[in-house]
Amino acid sequence: MSRNAESTAFRSALEVIRAVEPRVADAIGAELADQRESLKLIASENYASPATLLAMGNWFSDKYAEGTVGRRFYAGCQNVDTVEALAAEHAQELFGAAHAYVQPHSGIDANLVAFWAVLADRVESPALKKAQVRQVNDLTEADWFALRRELGNQRMLGMSLDAGGHLTHGFRPNISGKMFDQRSYGTDPATGLIDYDRVAEAAREFKPLILVGGYSAYPRKVNFRILREIADSVGATFMVDMAHFAGLVAGKVFTGDFDPVPHAHIVTTTTHKSLRGPRGGMVLCQPELADQVDRGCPMVLGGPLPHVMAAKAVALAEARRPDFADYAQRIVDNSQALAEGLLRRGAKLVTGGTDNHLVLIDVSGYGLTGRQAEQALLDSGIVTNRNSVPQDPNGAWYTSGIRIGTPALTTRGLGTAEMDQTAELIHTVLTQTTAGANADGTPSKAKYTLDAGLADKIARQATDLLATYPLYPGVDLS
Ligand SMILES: *Cc1c(COP(=O)(O)O)cnc(C)c1O
Repeated sequence: MSRNAESTAFRSALEVIRAVEPRVADAIGAELADQRESLKLIASENYASPATLLAMGNWFSDKYAEGTVGRRFYAGCQNVDTVEALAAEHAQELFGAAHAYVQPHSGIDANLVAFWAVLADRVESPALKKAQVRQVNDLTEADWFALRRELGNQRMLGMSLDAGGHLTHGFRPNISGKMFDQRSYGTDPATGLIDYDRVAEAAREFKPLILVGGYSAYPRKVNFRILREIADSVGATFMVDMAHFAGLVAGKVFTGDFDPVPHAHIVTTTTHKSLRGPRGGMVLCQPELADQVDRGCPMVLGGPLPHVMAAKAVALAEARRPDFADYAQRIVDNSQALAEGLLRRGAKLVTGGTDNHLVLIDVSGYGLTGRQAEQALLDSGIVTNRNSVPQDPNGAWYTSGIRIGTPALTTRGLGTAEMDQTAELIHTVLTQTTAGANADGTPSKAKYTLDAGLADKIARQATDLLATYPLYPGVDLS
């Protein structure tokens, strides 16, 4: 395919938009320019392909398609059926899953669908059984009361937030923490690794309905075979949220015990992180949960987004190609090169390294909070995000960590040599930044000083590093 086609497509689209609201066209153009210039190390972000992006901007956006393929509550869904079935088929083939539900609008939505499916499947309630067989009108007030009480008193065991778990795994600021009685498992304070014996102990004591595996900020592989054995030993449903590392599963970097799909009853994911698809979510599950999962819309979700499902089908087709496995391996090679580069220069890393796409720097070693480090790096053209470290003394707002990830830069084509240079830039910024003080002389967790000239110099070096690896080389908007 000619690169010219990509330029023509995006240029024409902007021309059409510009005729209605030029400021939107300008903002879209500016976003591309900004992304091209920034050293994006946000572990949850990536760059979707032009084909994936273009599949979202069309008439599918106009369709209502509640229901599932072939069983819609709206007429005229034959073409939506085509793309939804394709996306599901690609997902099943790619991940070796028995069932795929591709409607969730995001990772959080996918988790809500999964929670509902497990509750509906597992909670022994005569009232729920009635509701499930669509005798909703027969439910008495007492049934409803019993149902709410039973559904709201279930237990969930997930990874603690400061060890790298996600808010949606039963934590208070999220609805999951209000729906479930939650307990969490952490990591070994000495090694930073998951201590499976402690997880088993917590499961035995707590007897969760759902054991959740998966993370947003844990830099290591997780043994899903062991977690499944723990779930089985207490009769829990084993759910894995692979939102962050789905690309590494798709690219067969995580196989055997480290591939969640053969071990979990239900797997949720985003499609836009390491998987490099459109912004969205997905649920994969064993056959016995499929009916409940398919009730996601309208039980939990608003109407499906057929244009995004079309883009999911495109991105999943891309992920089935052999070069995606190569991409996934390069993500991890880059992450390890970045970790080694940082360690060699004296940085302190949670767990001492990485075997996935992300690295967690404990910036207390530089005398900084995560917030100070994040801002100083941003001033220097390096985009990261602050993150808690295990047992973080600075809490979830200021934090003591910086999370960096390689999926986006790997998509651009940067390799291990550039990762070492990136480590040098990060280390230089963090060693040259000093923590500030409050007006009363106490140490500030937010204020810092960094020489503006140095920040500019680093930002120029970051841009130079990117110059050889243009983002969307086929797209010229000028
Ligand atoms: C990113 C993430 C989510 C949320 O995804 P959204 O698409 O932002 O809703 C859920 N779970 C985990 C583990 C994540 O990393």
